[in-house]
Amino acid sequence: DQAPTPYYFTQPHEARLLLRKRDRFSNKGTFGHALLLAGSYGKMGAAVLSARACLRAGVGLLTVQVPRCGYDILQIAVPEAMCRPDTHETVLTGQTAVDGPEPAAYTTVGIGPGLGKAPETLAMLRTLLPTLAKPIVVDADALNLLAENRDLLKKLPPNSILTPHPKEFERLTQAWANDYEKLDLLRDFAQKNRVVVVLKGAYSAVATPNGEVHFNATGNPGLSTGGTGDVLTGILMALLAQGYDAVEAAVLGVYAHGLAGDRVAEQRGPIGMTASDVIDALRWH
Ligand code: AMP
Ligand code: MG
Repeated sequence: DQAPTPYYFTQPHEARLLLRKRDRFSNKGTFGHALLLAGSYGKMGAAVLSARACLRAGVGLLTVQVPRCGYDILQIAVPEAMCRPDTHETVLTGQTAVDGPEPAAYTTVGIGPGLGKAPETLAMLRTLLPTLAKPIVVDADALNLLAENRDLLKKLPPNSILTPHPKEFERLTQAWANDYEKLDLLRDFAQKNRVVVVLKGAYSAVATPNGEVHFNATGNPGLSTGGTGDVLTGILMALLAQGYDAVEAAVLGVYAHGLAGDRVAEQRGPIGMTASDVIDALRWH
């Protein structure tokens, strides 16, 4: 016999309670320095969207590591971010000629949007992950690389946040026959790997390392369009950088992301919503 399962449903007042006030006597150091590793040739938009969302979610400082082909793009599209160009032209290898702290020195790291699955990028993950101790955000092709190289799962810093959509989650685990099976796989995966998993979609589910699942009701089908997941990654990085713990960051971030989508839908309907609209609609009050 199993103990009753702790399922939760994020209420508006709970999200409000999680949200912290901005300290009057602050400076940009107060709100953390996030490092985003994202982009490849043809997918720089994902890096731009994550970076912009991270800034709109309150990060103090943001550095983005991109392949060389993405340097001008990132600097022009997101002037608020610092940019570290990789030595590789089209994919990330982790090698950079530019001075800067080691990834482990940042408040948090986010990796995945637009990344691609080049062998060089896998090699980067292999060397990078064991050096990191604080929770990171893992999304998109970084998840696909983990799925194809399962030994890397053990290298994830505890309490990292993984943000798979259903297809990515299936690659990390296996196919399910129904929602009950899916939920079991989700809780199991989060507990075994000591990570927070955001299984995205209508009613995104945030599974915690201790077996809880927090369902989220904000959001709408307008969000079913390219780039909205990259926006969520940026939001979660910003919240981790500001000192929210991983579960708080995931619950609050998923709620705020969906609510932003709902605001856009209220203004102009769900059809034709863009990821950039969602960034613009983020509100933290
Ligand atoms: P991705 O598939 O990585 O681009 O992520 C899509 C984002 O949009 C996730 O945050 C999903 O939760 C959200 N999303 C997509 N479709 C819906 C939907 N029908 N209802 C609510 N949220 C959605
Ligand atoms: Mg995605």
